[in-house]
Amino acid sequence: MPASKSVSECGSAENNRSLVDLFSRTISYLRLSLTDRCNLKCLYCVPEEGGLPKLEQEDLLSYEELLRVVRAAVSLGMTKLRLTGGEPLVRRDLMRFVKQLAEIKGLRDIRITTNGVLFEQYAEELRAAGISKINISLDSLKPERFARITGADCFAQVWRGIEKAQAVGFAPVKLNMVVMRGVNDDELADFAQLSRDTALHVRFIEFMPIGESSRWHKDTYVPSDEIKARLRDLGELIPVHRSETDGPACMFRVGQEAKGKLGFISPLSHHFCDRCNRLRLTSEGMLRACLLHDAETDLRSLLRHGGTDEEIRAALLAAVRSKPQGHRMEERLKAQEGGCHGRMSRIGG
Ligand code: SAM
Repeated sequence: MPASKSVSECGSAENNRSLVDLFSRTISYLRLSLTDRCNLKCLYCVPEEGGLPKLEQEDLLSYEELLRVVRAAVSLGMTKLRLTGGEPLVRRDLMRFVKQLAEIKGLRDIRITTNGVLFEQYAEELRAAGISKINISLDSLKPERFARITGADCFAQVWRGIEKAQAVGFAPVKLNMVVMRGVNDDELADFAQLSRDTALHVRFIEFMPIGESSRWHKDTYVPSDEIKARLRDLGELIPVHRSETDGPACMFRVGQEAKGKLGFISPLSHHFCDRCNRLRLTSEGMLRACLLHDAETDLRSLLRHGGTDEEIRAALLAAVRSKPQGHRMEERLKAQEGGCHGRMSRIGG
């Protein structure tokens, strides 16, 4: 065995140490925004005056560029990947890319977050290609309201996608609902019931002030504690031991007999920065160390100007070391400094 090994030759367990940030968190999870394009126009993404700026095709990282980044990340010890966007299922030739990802040794878990519109048609292929888990965004159970929130009359199509996901064996299927006062917060009990009556995992996400287009307002934001209080009539929320697949959510069952789980993702009221294990790559190749901090590193320039694999690894490690201890968004809002500017469609949530 040689006396010293380059980073790429080392086993992942050994290298995990290099992915430990300045606050002792191990960063093992990479989120890729594959495109900023989306087939929905959700009101928290699109500006009230309409029109969302779009990246040019050549601004997006190609699949080959993305694969280089993922291989570099995995060689450092990253094990988990999420494909997001925009809407990842609208990116052409996605299946080929997923198959190539699945061949990367050491990458244990490839997940996807989707709005579900195209999921029914791709569910089987995605599962066969190597996607292990899915999250589907669903902000209303009422078809007309769903259309108002998303700009598209396709609730039935999304629901068929959810059923298809269960039928082809994705388990659990997680539904993410962004809770917005006066928009969909009268459906909290219906969503909670869904997690009791079916095997679906429903997660309530606090509305975050992200993007110049966000309609976030302190009055629209509903903190998780209030959501829990408003569910009191449904019966006891029984805490569930956090599993590796729960991510940042605090999980409960709505009564002993519940078939699914109910989760609370509280980035503002009970932030989970001390457990954050993520790096994000935006659709145009910017590395983002924190969802709620606008600082980014330009990885695309490195990729397109002859950067070596070692340099890509160095950029990833530098991003890990630059991760802030916490996002301090609540303090910023109190000081009326405003939210984040980065558009969610390019960051990927
Ligand atoms: N198109 C995919 C989808 O709809 O799931 C993936 C991209 S979307 C940006 C990822 C997630 O971010 C979705 O669950 C969406 O509801 C959530 N999201 C977007 N803007 C948000 C905001 N301001 N606060 C909280 N969650 C938000």
